[in-house]
Amino acid sequence: MSLRQKVAEIFQECFGCAPDHIARAPGRVNLLGEHVDYNDGFVLPAAIDHATYIAFSKTSAPHSALYSVDFAEAAFFSPTELPAKTQSDGSPLPDWARYPAGVIWSLQEAGQSTPNMQAAFASDVPRGAGLSSSASVEMAFAIAWQTLGGWTLPPMQLALLAQKAENQYVGVNCGIMDQFASACGEKDRLMLLDCRSLEYRSLPLPKDAAIVIADTSVRRSLTASAYNDRRAACEEAVRLLKHDLPDIKALRDVSVDEFNQLAYKLPDEVQKRARHVVEEIERTTRAISLLQSGDVAGFGRLMNECHASLRDLYEVSIPELNIMASAAQSLDGCYGARLTGAGFGGCVASLVARDQVSAFVKNLAAEYESETRRHPEIYICEASSGAGIISP
Ligand code: ADP
Ligand code: MG
Repeated sequence: MSLRQKVAEIFQECFGCAPDHIARAPGRVNLLGEHVDYNDGFVLPAAIDHATYIAFSKTSAPHSALYSVDFAEAAFFSPTELPAKTQSDGSPLPDWARYPAGVIWSLQEAGQSTPNMQAAFASDVPRGAGLSSSASVEMAFAIAWQTLGGWTLPPMQLALLAQKAENQYVGVNCGIMDQFASACGEKDRLMLLDCRSLEYRSLPLPKDAAIVIADTSVRRSLTASAYNDRRAACEEAVRLLKHDLPDIKALRDVSVDEFNQLAYKLPDEVQKRARHVVEEIERTTRAISLLQSGDVAGFGRLMNECHASLRDLYEVSIPELNIMASAAQSLDGCYGARLTGAGFGGCVASLVARDQVSAFVKNLAAEYESETRRHPEIYICEASSGAGIISP
């Protein structure tokens, strides 16, 4: 049974009638442009065909009733309880319910009407693997409340409100890429986002290439402090480079040539971090013409370079990610492979020739398992369309 059928059936069991609507919002994988979002750079994610599905209807009850299929738990809350993050019986919201509650909070702050809903939802985006299960939950609820409220915002606007929910209500300091990709994704396309202007466009994913996502099964740890250290190093680089380049606002404004001339002025660690960012931003701009001309091999090489840079310069990789990426890169049919997401765990994304995908997946799993004694989940993904209503 498909997930959309499953949520519709569970809705029926919970509420005794069929749902009026089904919303869907995908997870995402970033193929190029890692750790550059907070340096005003470019990212190149795709929405994937793993998604959150919500079966929902408007209710006249004084609160919303949400049932999480994956956590087998319900939450009830009314708009007045949102600031306190409590349910209608005074108990704290379960952690998962902070995401949908945050979305209503953010929509209400923006002046949008959010009628109470009853809903059952489930997702096949793996949680905590770096494929943005949280943004897929947020965007699915943003679409659901948009539908019930009878208003329409541009997808990017909705993504920004979902990001605000995660930043300010849930309290997770994420950039805009995740919600953007989930909101604006297009079938068979990669989405190029300028993180400074928020302008975006799509580029074709070469037809013969499948996206394979291999989960190391190592969950992120220590990310908050490592992430803050990296951000601070980037800011320090900008501060020091301003002596020679007074007009720069972010590492985005520094070319590779300029950086090469001035790098000796930076302390070693700051230099390594900044070099990753400056070169990674250049790689994303080189990717544009490669994708336009269908040069999947050239694009894959950029992914390999990105992995090496995240490993050696930005130092956000771990042995399991390196084993998975090297194994993938050495297998037949692989154009390129790299750790995706913030690092320190999670997944390796590879681009693989479609006619060699099944052998690739089998061999990758075997190689990773024999080297690490860990079992990897491996997903063959398509670039999919962004969040929206689908017919029940
Ligand atoms: P990710 O990298 O997958 O986005 P996060 O830590 O940002 O990881 O978000 C994971 C959290 O999002 C979960 O702990 C849960 O609170 C919420 N979430 C994700 N998927 C679901 C789901 N299927 N049902 C309910 N809540 C979910
Ligand atoms: Mg997340």
